[in-house]
Amino acid sequence: MQLYNKLSAKEREALLEEAGEDRLTLSFYAYAKIGNPELFRNHLFIAWDQMDVLGRIYVAHEGINAQLSVPADRFNEFKKFLDEIYFLENVRLNIAIEHDIKSFLKLKVKVRKKIVADGLNDETFDVRNKGVHVDAAKFNDLINDPNTILVDMRNHYESEIGHFQGAITPDVDTFRDSLDIIEEDLKEHKEDKNLVMYCTGGIRCEKASAYYKHRGFKNVFQLEGGIIEYTRQVENQKLENKFIGKNFVFDHRRSERISEDVIAQCHQCGKPCDTHVNCANEACHLLFIQCKECAEKMNDCCSDDCKEIAALPYEEQKALRKGKGASNKIFKKGRSEVLRFKQ
Ligand SMILES: [Zn+2]
Ligand SMILES: [Zn+2]
Repeated sequence: MQLYNKLSAKEREALLEEAGEDRLTLSFYAYAKIGNPELFRNHLFIAWDQMDVLGRIYVAHEGINAQLSVPADRFNEFKKFLDEIYFLENVRLNIAIEHDIKSFLKLKVKVRKKIVADGLNDETFDVRNKGVHVDAAKFNDLINDPNTILVDMRNHYESEIGHFQGAITPDVDTFRDSLDIIEEDLKEHKEDKNLVMYCTGGIRCEKASAYYKHRGFKNVFQLEGGIIEYTRQVENQKLENKFIGKNFVFDHRRSERISEDVIAQCHQCGKPCDTHVNCANEACHLLFIQCKECAEKMNDCCSDDCKEIAALPYEEQKALRKGKGASNKIFKKGRSEVLRFKQ
């Protein structure tokens, strides 16, 4: 029985191009009690591999968090499979607005301790005591209310290219950091203001809202289905769109454009730009914003040093990399002193 990928990303890319079939990119999550995550993981892998599903899926004792793509003509089969799992029956699927057949190139189903690395000790508070879920219409009403404080629960490189008008966007690298910073900023208003929060697909707010209620906030609301579902409802119901810029997503597309506004700037020359790239020096791989002109000038690199390394023959690059992990830079997404225009 095959339980892991056989194809490399490159081979998969070629296959997808050749097939040229429509694929749907979607995400979903569910908190549930899973007794044996390993077994569940294998069950998913075997079924989804056969359906030609690709993506990144995390399974833990606390539930499942999935970002994936599925061939459009197998969507019904996929949906039926989900509905047969009791805690995934009618689960809300956040379906992407822009589709790219190459949004994912592998099927990776991983067993993790948690489905979101939230850094919280769940034993210390009641994770079921969540905030009030609101839809797009109610969310718009709430953010028009002067008594509301709107908070972006995502990291700095996500809110940098797009966020809701008037939102607080903490300059943080991790979810855990943002929880403390927000609490410190808002501690005077635990009882008198509405704390309204949002994230990409809603999953981060599930825990954050329960945590803030535990910390004494009285009026806690969360955007159901996050920015992805908000955008869908705004389009379908012809509501006012209050999100400006792009929504950062965690697949090859990197982002979805929601409004025409470009709110970020090229980290190298400072001109308006909201295109994230990874530095072409594999040992660096820094995530940053780069305009077309700078990409050309810098050979897709973040710095002159990286440009030099990336120009070396592959074997030499490999020798240079030996023993030096790049993980620290990957973690510090979009932060490097060489980027003059990163605020
Ligand atoms: Zn530039
Ligand atoms: Zn670099």
